[in-house]
Amino acid sequence: MSNQENKTDVILIGAGIMSATLGSLLKELVPDWNITVFEQLDKPGEESSNEWNNAGTGHAALCELNYTPEKADGTIDITKALNVNEQFQLSRQFWSYLVKEDLIQNPQDFVMPLPHMSLVHGKENVEFLKKRFEALSNNPLFDGMEFSDDPEKLKEWIPIVMDGRTSDEPIAATKIDSGTDVNFGALTRMLIKHLENQDVTVKYKHSVKNVKRTSDGSWELKVKDLENGTVERHQAKFVFLGAGGGSLHLLQKSGIPEGKGIGGFPVSGLFMVCNNPDVVEKHHAKVYGKAKVGAPPMSVPHLDTRFIDNKKSLLFGPYAGFSPKFLKTGSYLDLFLSVKLHNVINMIGAGLKNLGLTKYLVQQVLLSKEKRMEELREFIPDAKSEDWDMIVAGQRVQVIKETESGGKGTLQFGTEVVSAADGSIAALLGASPGASTAVHVMLQVLSKCFPERMDEWEPKIKEMIPSYGVSLSENKELAQQIHESTAEVLKLTNQQV
Ligand SMILES: Cc1cc2nc3c(=O)[nH]c(=O)nc-3n(C[C@H](O)[C@H](O)[C@H](O)COP(=O)(O)OP(=O)(O)OC[C@H]3O[C@@H](n4cnc5c(N)ncnc54)[C@H](O)[C@@H]3O)c2cc1C
Repeated sequence: MSNQENKTDVILIGAGIMSATLGSLLKELVPDWNITVFEQLDKPGEESSNEWNNAGTGHAALCELNYTPEKADGTIDITKALNVNEQFQLSRQFWSYLVKEDLIQNPQDFVMPLPHMSLVHGKENVEFLKKRFEALSNNPLFDGMEFSDDPEKLKEWIPIVMDGRTSDEPIAATKIDSGTDVNFGALTRMLIKHLENQDVTVKYKHSVKNVKRTSDGSWELKVKDLENGTVERHQAKFVFLGAGGGSLHLLQKSGIPEGKGIGGFPVSGLFMVCNNPDVVEKHHAKVYGKAKVGAPPMSVPHLDTRFIDNKKSLLFGPYAGFSPKFLKTGSYLDLFLSVKLHNVINMIGAGLKNLGLTKYLVQQVLLSKEKRMEELREFIPDAKSEDWDMIVAGQRVQVIKETESGGKGTLQFGTEVVSAADGSIAALLGASPGASTAVHVMLQVLSKCFPERMDEWEPKIKEMIPSYGVSLSENKELAQQIHESTAEVLKLTNQQV
């Protein structure tokens, strides 16, 4: 690839976890490629990847009930849970590689061991959880999972959840100690610093305004320097739109046919954060419940111990809501400006199909603090209003598109890579399972955009990620070996209380 002024091999738009991960993979695979990152804010990891803007769950399906739906015949479908867990194992291996190679340091600053628990109430839900436990616990990826419907045992596991509970409704939980809390903001900052050490140019306060194909098939970006207002032109043969909620607008500007018809539906979020250190100290787990009827899967309530800035915190949420912004720092016009002739039918379709969801989200926005406390008290019966403050989380832009099963205007809750047929540009849309699976998703970007290089890259990928291309759930020995070696490197073996 060429290397002239304002021409780079690769441009990454946005300094969030996705661009940071893709840049870090590329620097290992092709160290001599020049990479430039444009970020419109003044620091990396300030939007969804920031530690206060997401829940920091290392999603491995250890506790998230929406990854194990119950089938019509009453059995549990664990396909998605296995996939998400396998994907998280790729992240653990890549992070371990970076630590072992001393490319990033102090893993405890971004990943901490933390039990993951699922908690349910009511006879039917208890039966569901037991079946889920039976379906998962023999799999090597879920080794060590425990189930209990004994209130005394639950009191040991989650005292603040059980104290003051008066109802005699059946209650049950599963617990697995190999879960993690991940500070994706800290990890993003570490990865971007590592990239800067490897001569990657990171331009802050630079907002990408347009993405246009040039006559030789590469891409020209119009970039505004927000400090002095000047407009710069930059060219690259490969561009990654890692702009989070901002990616859809940029994809639309690129005009690639693969982006036609796609729309976005923004979902906002709020967390309650505990300001009473005595309450924070009494809890040590991520406890996931079941989503309320009508609620989107990403608003499953959970009570999370978090490790932020070397301090233990306690968060509850997220409470989903509606805001037309595509980024937390975005504009109220974002949703309106994303409606184009080519996606208007899908947008209207999604609007009509999801009237219930929209109503739910608007109602959620209008909830008073006391109403939110009522939801929190389903987890902590004795929770006091004065101990909890509200913080605004990041925006999640869900993909709207036509699908075979759902037809026009189907709302998708997953993550989606959209790339040009010639592999010269790729965008990441959607938000779930999100940052936890960044390595898997960025490997997908590489295989979609550089298929001709994957054979050449495979040995290096396998050096970084030994389970690449192997199913760990079907390979018990390798699963155990990788679990132990990554736990040791990432310092996940010493349970901290
Ligand atoms: C409430 C909530 C809870 C979540 N919980 C979890 C969780 O527990 N576990 C998990 O794994 N994931 C979770 N996620 C998802 C996760 O946060 C995201 O998937 C991930 O952070 C997305 O990273 P990103 O790099 O794509 O986007 P971002 O981190 O949003 O980064 C995009 C960057 O692009 C920049 N940008 C945008 N437009 C432009 C432009 N035109 N020019 C230049 N720069 C631009 C932005 O300023 C931003 O810095 C959660 C998300 C939310 C909102």
